[in-house]
Amino acid sequence: MPVLPILTYPDPILRLKCEEAVPGTDDVCRLAEDMVETMYAAPGIGLAAPQVGRNIRMLVIDITGPVGAPEPHVLLNPVIQEKSESTSFEEGCLSVPELNVEIDRARKIRVRYQDLDGRWNDLSAEDLFAVAVQHEMDHLEGRLILDYASPVRRDLYRRKIRKQRAQGV
Ligand SMILES: [Zn+2]
Repeated sequence: MPVLPILTYPDPILRLKCEEAVPGTDDVCRLAEDMVETMYAAPGIGLAAPQVGRNIRMLVIDITGPVGAPEPHVLLNPVIQEKSESTSFEEGCLSVPELNVEIDRARKIRVRYQDLDGRWNDLSAEDLFAVAVQHEMDHLEGRLILDYASPVRRDLYRRKIRKQRAQGV
């Protein structure tokens, strides 16, 4: 299972609205395995398909961290069914390095999604797990944590990235 390169801002693929994932295909199953591997290698607690250059509605999550036993979740075509009151978390993103943004998200959610065999499942998530699912679902819409930052911070970040690229960093 290869570790895939993770795209970073301002790669235009990160801005696409993703298309429906087709469960059960070899391509999608292989991609799910590679994404889990890539997430652990990063290391991160979640990864969405566009972050590895694929424009499809699939994400992987594991919030157990390096000490716990791995518990990867693979969600295809997720849809939020219910949301609770909101909470705010400081979030980072593998595709938006060196930026943390405080974002309001629902503290509890119920999500309907397909597994790799195409079965529909319900998942209830709260706290970090719920935040991670909502963060990864944003990627499927082409939305990034940068979009939640103040205009000033957005502008500073854009300039910093432009400068780093110009210097070949
Ligand atoms: Zn992200």
